[in-house]
Amino acid sequence: MADPKGFLTTPRQDWPRRPVEERVRDWDEVYVPGALLPIISKQADRCMDCGIPFCHEACPLGNLIPEWNDLVSREDWRAAADRLHATNNFPEFTGRLCPAPCEAGCVLAINQPAVTIKNVECAIADRAWEEGFAPPRPPDRLSGRTVAVIGSGPTGLAAAQQLTRAGHTVAVYERDDRLGGLMRYGIPAFKMEKHHLERRLEQMRAEGTRFRTSTAVGRDIGADELRTRYDAVVIATGATAWRELPVPGRELTGIHQAMEYLPLSNRVGEGDLETSPLSAAGKHVVIVGGGDTGADCLGTAVREGAASVTQLDIYALPGAERDEDTEPWPTYPVRVYRLSAAHEEARDLRTAPVADADARLFAASTLRFDGDAQGHVRSLHLVEVDERRRPVDGTGRTLPADLVLLALGFSGPDRRDGLVDQLGLELEPRGTIARDAGFATNVPGVFAAGDAARGQSLIVWAIAEGRAVAAAVDRHLTGGSALPAPIGPYDRPMVV
Ligand SMILES: Cc1cc2nc3c(=O)[nH]c(=O)nc-3n(C[C@H](O)[C@H](O)[C@H](O)COP(=O)(O)OP(=O)(O)OC[C@H]3O[C@@H](n4cnc5c(N)ncnc54)[C@H](O)[C@@H]3O)c2cc1C
Ligand code: SF4
Repeated sequence: MADPKGFLTTPRQDWPRRPVEERVRDWDEVYVPGALLPIISKQADRCMDCGIPFCHEACPLGNLIPEWNDLVSREDWRAAADRLHATNNFPEFTGRLCPAPCEAGCVLAINQPAVTIKNVECAIADRAWEEGFAPPRPPDRLSGRTVAVIGSGPTGLAAAQQLTRAGHTVAVYERDDRLGGLMRYGIPAFKMEKHHLERRLEQMRAEGTRFRTSTAVGRDIGADELRTRYDAVVIATGATAWRELPVPGRELTGIHQAMEYLPLSNRVGEGDLETSPLSAAGKHVVIVGGGDTGADCLGTAVREGAASVTQLDIYALPGAERDEDTEPWPTYPVRVYRLSAAHEEARDLRTAPVADADARLFAASTLRFDGDAQGHVRSLHLVEVDERRRPVDGTGRTLPADLVLLALGFSGPDRRDGLVDQLGLELEPRGTIARDAGFATNVPGVFAAGDAARGQSLIVWAIAEGRAVAAAVDRHLTGGSALPAPIGPYDRPMVV
């Protein structure tokens, strides 16, 4: 803490976003390039070094936040990068994509805006790459043990990097043609440009991790074959089995799942397609589902040139501040009004003439879809619901809809490749892969981590899962492990 009064003299300042009119005309990240570094040391100086850092507790990775705030306030970037990489394999991912539960737990946030922890993390990560503080770290010697990691999302990548650095020979199997999991084909480039992913993959290749793309385990290669060929197997296949909306008219064309829509626009960005076959250009778009996946659809539809975009949220409009009775500090308040970059764009561009402020209609429940003579969706009927989801009389309304995107969350791992059945994996009642306190499944030598076992979650949890399962696998292979395990399989976010 270079200035012990920093939190009294410096107001919070976030990384500024580019003007809405400018950024919706491209797919680059929404932030002003180069505008973070000049402000970030003063922002880090707002950290009070409070003594009991709840931010550190609230971060699933156990990031050493007060330590690197201090180092950044003193502009010791090399030491800050070392402290950050000690707990986080991919801070440039979390620095851009994490919802920052750490900031909800910041002691300063009790009565004034929290330290911009996520921005500090991003600045350290970006500076580390610029200055060459994040070189490949290949192992000094090899263990002679082999590990197959199935899935190349943040869980699989973190597990693979940890195990490779520990000296094991690691191959990552990925069914998609490119690596990265949901960070590749789910999350749009305006939230995180893909070159951040490519740079880490290059680092991992240089360390010795091997990658096999376009290989679905269970379909292109038998799960048992992997078990025979490798000393251990880590399943990190995510939880992408989507939830359905079983209302009349669902069978009409023009109604798609968010994860049918988002990958196509990401493929346009990758240069695989000229335009998306599901492009929103010129269409009236309705997104059913009020979460982050829906917001990603919103930002994408706006950039594709939709005629209008409306997002439906089943929950009532939340308050501007946390409810201290139900979600007190230092927990992460779920029910607080947040204006994401996509919502800001929708608000400023008035994409949803029917909505009050941004593009959202709250407490809205879809009743049915109507189509035209060709069987294509043309409208969506909805009704307002109370807190127990009972329809409120006289609130029915109809929205024009040529493209409907369902963003209702995910129920568990996608079982279509046969991996779960081939191995005879036990599942939890909610469909996720069951595992014991050491991340081991019921099949000897097979471990499970990330969304596949935890259920739909966040990148910060996925990286923490990857690090923890790596420690468990290392122990299984060698009898002990010096690798860190930031979480256990049953750990959950801090709640009341
Ligand atoms: C649209 C969207 C936006 C999101 N935005 C954010 C965000 O902004 N911030 C945030 O923190 N979280 C976000 N999330 C959640 C986050 O992306 C996930 O929690 C995280 O990616 C889970 O990581 P994972 O590695 O466990 O699984 P995934 O990222 O799903 O990766 C699993 C990988 O396994 C591969 N795979 C599956 N089966 C097989 C098989 N049989 N053989 C070989 N490979 C296989 C898949 O192709 C995939 O690449 C978002 C999720 C979605 C859907
Ligand atoms: S990973 Fe997320 S919770 Fe952890 S310090 Fe970074 S922004 Fe905060």
